[in-house]
Amino acid sequence: EKLVVLSCGGGNGSHVTATITAARPNTESRVLTLFADEAERWTKAMGNDNMEVNIAYSDGTSREVKGKPALITKDPAKAVKGADIIFIVLPAFAHTDYFKAIAPHVSPNTVIVGLPGQAGFNINCIYEMGDTSKKCAIANFETLPFNCRIVEFGRKAQIIGFKGYCAGSVIMGQSKPKMAPMDMIQSILGPDCRYDDMGNFVAIYLLAKSICHPPLMYGRWSKWDGQPLDEAPLFYQGVDQWQADLLEGIGDECVAIAKDIEKKRPGTKMDAVIPMLDWMKRSYCELIADSSTLYHANRTNKGYDGLRHPMIRTKEGKFLPDFSTRYLSEDIPYGLVVMKGIGELSGTKTPVIDEVITWCQKKLGKEYLIGSELKGKDLVETRAPQKYGYMTLEQLFSIM
Ligand code: NAD
Repeated sequence: EKLVVLSCGGGNGSHVTATITAARPNTESRVLTLFADEAERWTKAMGNDNMEVNIAYSDGTSREVKGKPALITKDPAKAVKGADIIFIVLPAFAHTDYFKAIAPHVSPNTVIVGLPGQAGFNINCIYEMGDTSKKCAIANFETLPFNCRIVEFGRKAQIIGFKGYCAGSVIMGQSKPKMAPMDMIQSILGPDCRYDDMGNFVAIYLLAKSICHPPLMYGRWSKWDGQPLDEAPLFYQGVDQWQADLLEGIGDECVAIAKDIEKKRPGTKMDAVIPMLDWMKRSYCELIADSSTLYHANRTNKGYDGLRHPMIRTKEGKFLPDFSTRYLSEDIPYGLVVMKGIGELSGTKTPVIDEVITWCQKKLGKEYLIGSELKGKDLVETRAPQKYGYMTLEQLFSIM
């Protein structure tokens, strides 16, 4: 069956989805990017040529995918008309603008996919798109199924590695899409990653991988002496025991929230939420040399090769930590704060999450948490369920 597939965004991920989609038989690939003159630049850079994505596999082999999107535009009406599925492949702060832009043009039975959606994706979508969203299926994934980067804007991208597995969820609403959403997604993105329906959108929020960056930032920089460094420290492979403990602590608190939800709402399945070490083993498999503890798994994961702390270079060629990156500005309001919000609804104590948010919000100049309660003045800028008026677990789960 012919599919019209729209990728939203002009970044790394969207380059990949637009190309993979264009290469699929009987598929029309389109791109919507609202950002600056990106659509124009992309169209011009591509010209009459195919786009290329080079996929590197962990066994050392690689493969080239070529395809040409039929349309790259900043006009939501043109992009959305007749689309069967819309991949939102963007940093979370941009989601609201896209929901607002596409809402007037989306037809019933469209599948809207957060790839990745980050925590709070569906409730953000429903809030901005209102009744339109009820006639759509809304899918959300824990992470991007591949690590990728643009090699040449509008022309070439590279997949450095596929994750073998990606957990997701679908809220069907009153929709009847052309194909079952998970089958459609699997069929479009191909067999390199397995897309799995966890049946529960809240579980996916608690699994969102935005929970990794803040504890590692806090652990590395909260006790830093303020002196510039000679080089940027390795982000994962350089963790110390305390950072590993913080990461593990946050993962365990998400598992505790999941268990409390199961207790309070018998029949709700939250077993998708697993401890951090288990998640890491499942996602990276043989890339980890020593998976005996979270500390060792971080330090010996080849999938993390070359990933360093975000830093600012000084005039003298030294390095200072950069607290303005998405590791905090995105992963706190659209990550940990959402998990904390769910924890308040389930009545779960989350001392590690609280400790990490408290330090991170200071770096961001924001106030989400006061003590251990989410009642700071900047809560409205987050995707915590409370921001959208979900004040009980019943209310939150009612959107399923
Ligand atoms: P990206 O950084 O390449 O996205 C940049 C795009 O976002 C821009 O091209 C533009 O279209 C849009 N954008 C940027 N600033 C904007 C602004 N001020 N207003 C409106 N739009 C703006 O992102 P990506 O690498 O494609 O990643 C997408 C999501 O996937 C992110 O949430 C990221 O954390 C996550 N992720 C990415 C990778 C990866 O390997 N690239 C891996 C795991 C998760």
